[in-house]
Amino acid sequence: MSGTPRVKTRFPPSPTGALHLGGARTALFNWLFARHHGGSFVFRLEDTDRARSKDEYVTSIIDAMAWLGMNYDEGPFYQSKRNERYLAAIEHMLGNAKAYWCHCSPEDLEAQRAAASAAGKKPMYSGKCRELGLGQAKGAVVRFRGPLDGATVFDDLVKGPISVANNELDDLILLRSDGSPTYHLAVVVDDIDMGITHVIRGDDHVSNTPRQILLFKALDATPPLFAHVPMILGADKGKLSKRHGATAVIDYETEGFLPAAMLNMLARLGWSHGDQEIFSVQELIDLFSLEHVGKSPSVFDQDKLLNLNHHYIQHTDIAKLADMLTPFLRNLGIEQPDRTTLLAALPHLTQRARTLVELAHWAEPYLLDEPKMEAEAKAKFLTAESKPLLQAALDLMESQPPQLEPAMKELAKALGVKPGALFPPLRAALTGRQASPGVYEVMAILGSQRVKKRLKQAIDSLR
Ligand code: GLU
Repeated sequence: MSGTPRVKTRFPPSPTGALHLGGARTALFNWLFARHHGGSFVFRLEDTDRARSKDEYVTSIIDAMAWLGMNYDEGPFYQSKRNERYLAAIEHMLGNAKAYWCHCSPEDLEAQRAAASAAGKKPMYSGKCRELGLGQAKGAVVRFRGPLDGATVFDDLVKGPISVANNELDDLILLRSDGSPTYHLAVVVDDIDMGITHVIRGDDHVSNTPRQILLFKALDATPPLFAHVPMILGADKGKLSKRHGATAVIDYETEGFLPAAMLNMLARLGWSHGDQEIFSVQELIDLFSLEHVGKSPSVFDQDKLLNLNHHYIQHTDIAKLADMLTPFLRNLGIEQPDRTTLLAALPHLTQRARTLVELAHWAEPYLLDEPKMEAEAKAKFLTAESKPLLQAALDLMESQPPQLEPAMKELAKALGVKPGALFPPLRAALTGRQASPGVYEVMAILGSQRVKKRLKQAIDSLR
């Protein structure tokens, strides 16, 4: 088959830290673009910096991708296992004069830069060894023999046409003196070998792109198309950092965010579809396009994320939500929650919870054998005064009225109190809290046996 090649994108993080919001947004745009076009998404770990790359970061990035449901079609590839390919490419370029050995010492280079600055030019490598025909030597590096005239032009799919004069680009190093390939060389060789058609990445890489395009050409390959996405700022318009909330994606999992909410939020960081705010994953795949990625930085807003999460908690299937709650309940010491109770409680609790941590907090009283009494609830509502009310409510429950609500109203009347006066002590007795869903809902969740047991316990505690 001929024609345009099938879309292939990639996400190539360096495992020198956890996956952050910016990286996750880059991954998502690549994933959505590939899925939208029925293409393929490659995952590659750029772990050539052996000193800073750590296995634990590899694992945490893989876990974060899995949590967000960004599945890849190829990979994970590890650059550290592809050294031979990089060395072969360098060999090839040395062989056809696209690269050369450079013997300049750090002092030489410093002097060249100083001389360029003194002459009012950009401080850069002078090209001293370019035509010397030097060979390999201790401390030598291999440099790219870049064109000295003309310009490198590309049409960025977000930023539009970009042109850089080639004499502004010095001959970049391809092989370091320790024998390791540089990022530029490895990334280009990989993108060629893996057949990448679109490179979508943060705009901190814009200035690398002309250099990489020259390398693609020197290796007789057609460069992919590039889309550079503006950075993400915090709510105060400063660079996104810890003070704007968690920055590692995986921390959002432990804080009780749903992957669907995270994906929705990440997609909206730089991409839009009219003024729509809520998108299912399938809608994102259907609608995503680079034409609607904005040119200006986007702002991450933790409150917006909480609101989105609240929305997704309310719209997630209850059985699925119960499953998601397992680790959060475990954190509260509830290892094996009674599923029937949990399923009965959740529909009454979701509107109160913005995170799964909050949802677990609201579910806790129904899942414990005995509710934990909050000191304030007890002091305010489980008092000598409330004892007759609780006793009367217990007697009423024992008498099994056909309809609880009218019977409670009757009871309040008989006790000479407003029906509302019964609720706070009942709520405290049944949940140990001052806040919960309506008391009748609480009773329905617990069932009459447990309601009676809790009322008895509360009354006993007042003896
Ligand atoms: N490893 C690079 C990074 O994490 C990848 C850059 C690229 O997409 O080419 O920034």
